Amino acid sequence: MSDFDYDLFVIGGGSGGVRAARVAAGETGAKVGLAEMDRYGGTCVIRGCVPKKLMVFASEYAGMPAEARAYGWDIGDGVFDWAAFRGKLNTELDRLEGVYRKLLSGSGVDSFDARARLKDAHTVELSTGEVKTAKHILIASGGRPVRPDMPNAELGMVSDDLFHMERLPKSILIVGGGYIACEFACILHGLGVEVTQYYRGAQILRGFDDEARGLIADAMKERGIDLHTGTNIVEMHRSHDPREEGLEAAPVEDKQYGGDHHAGPSDGAIRVKATNGNIREFDAVLFATGRAPNTADMGLEEAGVTLGRGGAIEVDDYSQTKVPSVYAIGDVTNRVNLTPVAIREGMAFVETVFRGNPTPVDHALIPSAVFTQPEMGTIGLSEEAAAEQEEIEVYCTSFRPMQTAFADKSDRVLMKLIVSKASRRVLGCHIVAPGAGEMIQLAGIAIKMGATKEDFDRTVAVHPTMSEEMVTMRNPIRTA
Ligand code: FAD
Repeated sequence: MSDFDYDLFVIGGGSGGVRAARVAAGETGAKVGLAEMDRYGGTCVIRGCVPKKLMVFASEYAGMPAEARAYGWDIGDGVFDWAAFRGKLNTELDRLEGVYRKLLSGSGVDSFDARARLKDAHTVELSTGEVKTAKHILIASGGRPVRPDMPNAELGMVSDDLFHMERLPKSILIVGGGYIACEFACILHGLGVEVTQYYRGAQILRGFDDEARGLIADAMKERGIDLHTGTNIVEMHRSHDPREEGLEAAPVEDKQYGGDHHAGPSDGAIRVKATNGNIREFDAVLFATGRAPNTADMGLEEAGVTLGRGGAIEVDDYSQTKVPSVYAIGDVTNRVNLTPVAIREGMAFVETVFRGNPTPVDHALIPSAVFTQPEMGTIGLSEEAAAEQEEIEVYCTSFRPMQTAFADKSDRVLMKLIVSKASRRVLGCHIVAPGAGEMIQLAGIAIKMGATKEDFDRTVAVHPTMSEEMVTMRNPIRTA
């Protein structure tokens, strides 16, 4: 009989925490407790991947009537009803949260609807006043969006707020160039919002392959997104600041978004001055400028857990912190911030600690997608990163796909393979095309297995498809 209340106590009921808790309890028989301070399912289910992808689907219908007409359909342009969509979205998120709660209770996990803090290496304190001891503690508290440190930044929304908007803004300024900024630029544009995007860097989607990000930036502009790179906000305020008229300022907090949500399309427009000198008004501003790990006020450093850059928990290859009984997984460790990675880290933790099979987390060759329009699927090294590492051959093709070319659309797709000259292995694969996320999942298996360019060449094409180009690129377009 253990001296502790639990074998494992998990802080955070998101992707990583829920998986680790239910596998440890359901499959290894460990006694597990879990605290979640907000909604079960965490970022992915409640304010990330899932609602975002449903919004991607909603926005993609925008281009379909025109395309359908080109194919002979007698069909008119429709009107998007945000309120109807948001209602259905909320119902779906409620359903999914229920599924997550059931998964935990069905595996025998004790759930606590409370905020948790570390008291010491084996103890957590809950906001309910309860104190629980555990042989092992797993921190899976995720991350949150942060606003830039500038006056009036609270007038802008962050990604969490988007799903709660009472109405769609007429116009929006999106600040940022990462995947979340670009995805929401495309989503909101598709839903009929006039979208302007400022990014201070030279090109959006930093870290991805240059040609792929260039094609996406061009496509976004061509579709009507007013994208400005090398541009940032200098200052922002409400256009009709009552103080300018000697009146008391209206509270910034907009009640319609509920407690935590501070901004959205508001009565007064927001006036923004940019680094290029432009002064423009927008109905709303979205800051997609970064995320921070949830490590503040959790008693971590007091208990001996060390934090690295930006407040992320420092862990070793087995997700163990400097305190041997305390582990951390997912976004709170800021390694690769993706749902399937948090889940893998949770599984590796259970394998290591509860099955006695030390399992490091494999962060090599992770396929991922960016749900812009057009979509990107990517795995491995960009051409630029690979060329710094070794001599490479680059195989690349860009063309107008049959489906949209027939409808006289100028959309282009890109298929690109980066190949090691020495080993012939495919080091990177980058696809910009409708459905690229689906394609890269499967290409990822071959590449993870160590496929060479000749393995790709040996594979017979599926015709007529876009992805057949992946196995028919005969000659490198350049070497580096
Ligand atoms: P989370 O899912 O964030 O869960 C952490 C949980 O801990 C939260 O529920 C939080 O309320 C709780 N918590 C925090 N502190 C405490 C405390 N002290 N006590 C109790 N509970 C606490 N990833 C993809 O793979 N694909 C995508 O398409 C994708 N799209 C995204 C889109 C957006 C807009 C965002 C924001 C993220 C997206 N992500 C995507 C990233 C993905 O959501 C995260 O990587 C993933 O959710 C991380 O899981 P986690 O378990 O580490 O943390």
